[in-house]
Amino acid sequence: MPKVGVLALQGDVREHATMLSQAGAEVSLVKRAEHLEDIDGLIIPGGESTTIAYLLTTSGVREALDKKIKDGLNVLGTCAGLIMLSSGIEDGRSDQWSYNAIDVVVKRNGYGRQIASFETDIVVKGIGQVPGVFIRAPRVVSVGSDVEILATYDHGDGEHPVLMRQGHAWGCSFHPELTNDSRVHELFVKSL
Ligand code: GLN
Repeated sequence: MPKVGVLALQGDVREHATMLSQAGAEVSLVKRAEHLEDIDGLIIPGGESTTIAYLLTTSGVREALDKKIKDGLNVLGTCAGLIMLSSGIEDGRSDQWSYNAIDVVVKRNGYGRQIASFETDIVVKGIGQVPGVFIRAPRVVSVGSDVEILATYDHGDGEHPVLMRQGHAWGCSFHPELTNDSRVHELFVKSL
């Protein structure tokens, strides 16, 4: 059984842990650098990317995780987690940093503020239709050629990627943990 960590500094930690158990993984919570040692994969949950970035730095996890990601650790970032894995951030704080693991530029709160949250059906390659919960979600505004797009969504202005991976690093604009459908987590767990 693969062991998957959930970065437990801020965000939907418990919900991801529940989904991972359903998807057949052993779950561990990652709060300190040493917790990264014996995991096969890691989920970076949604929340607030500026806060997660701050807590990664103050907890001492930032550098250790950077090294792990560069060494090929399987990571899935959802919502704010996708922002943390991106290569570029629009509308970020001036000092906002990211791990540069997926060659995408994301625009924070890129689906507009008025209808900041919505739910819609998303068709995922290899799975089919899953419910997609978007909460002040980042919008992928540009994608590099090495990124495999697993799902797109048209919010009325053309298709934009909402689930993608670049090798071992996966990103999801929506919140797969806030439904009762664990197939996105299964897809990640099966890749480990
Ligand atoms: N808007 C948040 C950010 O910029 C992300 C929202 C979320 O993770 N639900 O970090």
